[in-house]
Amino acid sequence: MLPTMMDTQLSVADLIEYAGSNYSAEEIVSRCVEGGIHRYTYQDCLRRTKKLANALTKLGAKQGQCIATLAWNTYRHIELYYAVTGIGAITHTINPRLFPEQITYIVNHAEDQIVFVDLSFVPILEKISDDLTSVAHFVVMTDRAHMPESQLNLLCYEELIEPESDSYDWPSHREDAPAALCYTSGTTGNPKGVLYTHRSTLLHAYAASQVLQASALNIILPVVPMFHVCAWGIPYMATMVGCKLVLPGAGMDGQSLYELIDNEQADLIVGVPTVWLNLLTYLRAAGEKLTSVKRTLVGGAAAPLSMIREFQEEHDVFLLHGWGMTEMSPLGTVNNMTSAMTKMPLEERYRVQMKQGKPVFGVELKIVDDNNHELPKDGKSFGRLMARGPWIASAYYKSEDKSSWVDGWFDTGDVATLSPDGMMQIVDRSKDVIKSGGEWISSIDLENTALGHDAVSEACVIGVPHPKWNERPLLLVTTHKPTTKESILTFLADKVAKWWLPDDVIFVDELPHNATGKLYKLDLRQQYQDHLQSSEQ
Ligand code: AMP
Repeated sequence: MLPTMMDTQLSVADLIEYAGSNYSAEEIVSRCVEGGIHRYTYQDCLRRTKKLANALTKLGAKQGQCIATLAWNTYRHIELYYAVTGIGAITHTINPRLFPEQITYIVNHAEDQIVFVDLSFVPILEKISDDLTSVAHFVVMTDRAHMPESQLNLLCYEELIEPESDSYDWPSHREDAPAALCYTSGTTGNPKGVLYTHRSTLLHAYAASQVLQASALNIILPVVPMFHVCAWGIPYMATMVGCKLVLPGAGMDGQSLYELIDNEQADLIVGVPTVWLNLLTYLRAAGEKLTSVKRTLVGGAAAPLSMIREFQEEHDVFLLHGWGMTEMSPLGTVNNMTSAMTKMPLEERYRVQMKQGKPVFGVELKIVDDNNHELPKDGKSFGRLMARGPWIASAYYKSEDKSSWVDGWFDTGDVATLSPDGMMQIVDRSKDVIKSGGEWISSIDLENTALGHDAVSEACVIGVPHPKWNERPLLLVTTHKPTTKESILTFLADKVAKWWLPDDVIFVDELPHNATGKLYKLDLRQQYQDHLQSSEQ
């Protein structure tokens, strides 16, 4: 039987064509790396993206090649997302917070031909340029007036595109052609590449845009960087629905974010919990309120109850969790407001909001035990969380390592529970969960509970070897006012099971984070591995 539908291939360039024609007057507003605010429309963006596509072609960029960006969230980065992928090349976004050796590794591994770089990150390139084996050009994303002095041969973005025509015919390609490349910020070994296709990117954008559409949101401010899992796909979903896009550039501190949110009247703000901790601290100190924001989408790590409560009670903002990962484009689940939640008393609703949510349509989830046997979706059993779907990686780029895939399912490395209604809650990363006397303790739960103590700024729980219980939790905290170990343990005592109580509380000046802002526990586990060895508890 012959189907009767058109065989139109999904293509990333169609998104900017669509927004440029159908939402031509909607704005993209950026805080510039050079200072000041830049403002233009989707129509302007489309025009400049085509100029850039012509410039790239002149520079020798070819289909299937990787072209890298080391850049903040700004309009030029958006232009690169569309022009590079649009000409049939691959947008390779590099996380500048990785160690220089890791950046060298991934540029060489991806065989990047051109690197586009923001002014702030030129020094990184200067440090590693001698070790880069494939790069023909470095282009600084600025105008002539701001070009830096450098021993590198640097091209200027604005000079490159200025003489070019703003007409360009996007080449056709299959929808399973590669579109974008992101590397994981793995804590062990070299970063691993995930190569997204036009199809996976578009399907993910359709699914992710439900977050906007379900809540009638129109002005989105992604703090999540475009160098980390394509800013959770927001540059693609914004053009798909034609909403105003507000880009914070390098201004990630509380005050800069507040000013941009307020001036541009953002109604959806998106980022990791640490960014919101900074923003909330600023708002508290300055006595300011968020008046335009309706939703905060939080992912990358679990938002603590105290944060959910403060957004709601001080700013009338509903915090919704999204969960996902680089290998999943990233979106796997969303915990949006349901009609049942609107009727719940606030405290009960907050408990629901602490969960990571239900799978978005297209993503299937299951939990398994150590023998890969599926565990019941009863909200209690917890096991390794497995996922599959059209925007989930089936391999790493140029890698033989298949250890993360079992029978066509991707092992997320997270430990979770699943409820009969599909609700998923992360218990821990499988490597962070603490196995004490045969029972499991969630480091995330303990951290988030400790954050409710009024002196604690940040909390990190690690499992360390213990002579009797195999492993016991150790709590490390940073504080913003004086407190004691006893005060923190007393605070925790009626909130967690007795055997979850940390064996010690250690006060530190700073906690280590990885390139994506997550707590980096590996070194801490080594540093404190003997801490409890002498104790018999
Ligand atoms: P990345 O690939 O760097 O984006 O990291 C993905 C990992 O971040 C996931 O496997 C989780 O461990 C963690 N993560 C992401 N979203 C959440 C969330 N909402 N709550 C808890 N952990 C999360």
